Amino acid sequence: MPKNKVQSLAVIGDPISHSLSPAMQNAAIQKLKAPYRFRAIRVHPEQLARFLKGPAQKLAGFNVTLPHKEAIVPLLDRLAYEAKLIGAVNTVLRRGDEWIGFNTDGAGYLMSLQADRQFSPRGKRVVILGAGGAARALAVALALAHAKSITVANRTVKRAEQLAKELSFRLRGTPLRAIPLGGAKLEAALRDCHLLINTTRVGLGGSSFQDFPWTKLRRGALVSDIVYSPRVTPFLKAARRRGHPIHTGEGMLVFQGALAFEIWSGLKPDVRLMRRELLRRLRERELRDKSKDRGKRSAPRGRRKK
Ligand code: NAP
Repeated sequence: MPKNKVQSLAVIGDPISHSLSPAMQNAAIQKLKAPYRFRAIRVHPEQLARFLKGPAQKLAGFNVTLPHKEAIVPLLDRLAYEAKLIGAVNTVLRRGDEWIGFNTDGAGYLMSLQADRQFSPRGKRVVILGAGGAARALAVALALAHAKSITVANRTVKRAEQLAKELSFRLRGTPLRAIPLGGAKLEAALRDCHLLINTTRVGLGGSSFQDFPWTKLRRGALVSDIVYSPRVTPFLKAARRRGHPIHTGEGMLVFQGALAFEIWSGLKPDVRLMRRELLRRLRERELRDKSKDRGKRSAPRGRRKK
């Protein structure tokens, strides 16, 4: 490849138009004056294999988001250690003729915990709400970082049990157990927890948990939410009202993206700039959504006046 030829990077998913990765990555690329450009590509689930053989050949690498993070695994030539443990990939690098899969979600989360809250999981008891793809990535990263114990609480307990069983087998140093998302077992887990993380979809668009047992949570426990829109979710607001320190979700997005860019380019992007750009876009989106809501609320009143 000629030295200064611009190389293409992307994020693939379906849907993908909402992704803020292009804005965040292109801001960093511009600052570095690096020969890359980053865009979003919609790939339907049934076209994933065809995408790898066709359009992807023009890319130096790409991020993978829902619904492809697990489906892409068998289509790649090699997997990095964490991606293999997690069983999902969020970053793909082309090296020669090979596609190599990485997962930077968990490491990005830990970097954000450290940078934003100076929190190290070593020796800490963690409760994770949710047992989806993000919970898996976090559980692996937290176990590799020597958390003392990890309790996974999920609405569908079977899914949490499956996750705990698989990961306990692979990560023997940190005990992992599964419990329901409510009731006495959750209350007991909260009592001695140092870090409580929401990885469920509750919080997206401002939704909230009903009757969360806040009074049982250990005093001073750090409360973290990986949902980043809104930035401070109702879950985090409730935690803050009760005096808990909080950790917002945009940091994970920034650091997983920064790690991915480093894998593709070998360059360290400006994470502060990436976060500024991301927050600017999120604010714009929140304002747009609010004015849409106002529009919806005022329309029926207008009709009533007639
Ligand atoms: P996923 O695999 O679809 O898992 C979704 C999880 O949410 C499951 O545990 C599901 O429980 C739970 N859930 C959904 N609706 C619920 C409800 N009403 N009440 C209780 N639990 C509910 O999704 P994912 O990939 O793990 O992503 C989860 C969230 O993390 C999403 O909001 C995503 O945007 C966010 N995320 C953020 C970042 C970041 O960089 N900050 C990165 C990745 C993901 P069941 O098993 O019972 O259905």
